[in-house]
Amino acid sequence: MNSLGYRGRFAPSPTGKLHFGSLVAAVASYLDARTAGGEWLLRIENIDPPREVPGSADAILASLEVFGFEWDGGVLYQSDRLDRYRAVVDELRREGLAYPCACSRKEIGAHARLGPEGPIYPGTCRDGLPPGREGLALRLLTHDRPIGFDDRIQGHLTQSVESETGDFVILRADGFFAYQLAVVVDDQDQGITQVVRGCDLLHSTPRQIHLQRLLGYTTPGYAHIPVVLDDTGKKLSKQDLAYPVDPTDPLPALGRVLGFLNQEQPPLALDNLEDWWTWAIGHWQIRRIPSVVQGCTL
Ligand code: GLU
Repeated sequence: MNSLGYRGRFAPSPTGKLHFGSLVAAVASYLDARTAGGEWLLRIENIDPPREVPGSADAILASLEVFGFEWDGGVLYQSDRLDRYRAVVDELRREGLAYPCACSRKEIGAHARLGPEGPIYPGTCRDGLPPGREGLALRLLTHDRPIGFDDRIQGHLTQSVESETGDFVILRADGFFAYQLAVVVDDQDQGITQVVRGCDLLHSTPRQIHLQRLLGYTTPGYAHIPVVLDDTGKKLSKQDLAYPVDPTDPLPALGRVLGFLNQEQPPLALDNLEDWWTWAIGHWQIRRIPSVVQGCTL
């Protein structure tokens, strides 16, 4: 690790091409790491084959290269880490911290209160499976004590995971590991000290901190940046064909990213990528990013 101890990351899911929203997350995490003299790692979060778009992992890497990003070390693919996730799930089960759940989405929907991210799991299978039912998914036990953290952009936030999300899935009924489990294990194993990502993941952070604490892992620092919304107010997703970025002409898109993040704009005369990045690294100020924007609260 570098002497200042900052290690950041960008962790795209290969569900489509790099679009303006993911470019914003990539640039913010990169500039924050490099301004601190830190490292920046790349991880492809490909543990959800049903959502994966063939070829998109390579397309994302190629776009990042054209935009001039330079990552430290090799790219980590979550699909290479299934044994590691399995071992962590087994550990949680052995310690009585995870339990099998037989509930279908429909059954949960029928009994659950609605939370900010969908139905709050009411704990149906917590004390054992109903007679004759088979548990396919595994859920993590949660508790009602508030989990707090200081977000570098959004300020101090707290959430009680049990009452706002409920016991959450770490191994899905279809046999795939859940994002929440994989991201926590990877952030730990890659030694990530700072996570800079979109506000759409703000609601996941207390769950991730809860899991880190159960596993005795270090909690990194967090900074959640505003997400880019489309004309209808929805978050841009890689499945949207709208708003792609044009890697053949990177500077205008990079300039728009700085504008979106309320950063200073480089002088117009700056017309090559290398100089652009040197300038941007020298002028990055995370405190200029607006905190009060749609979707950035718990
Ligand atoms: N893989 C997630 C995404 O593409 C990002 C996960 C994270 O940064 O924690 O939205």
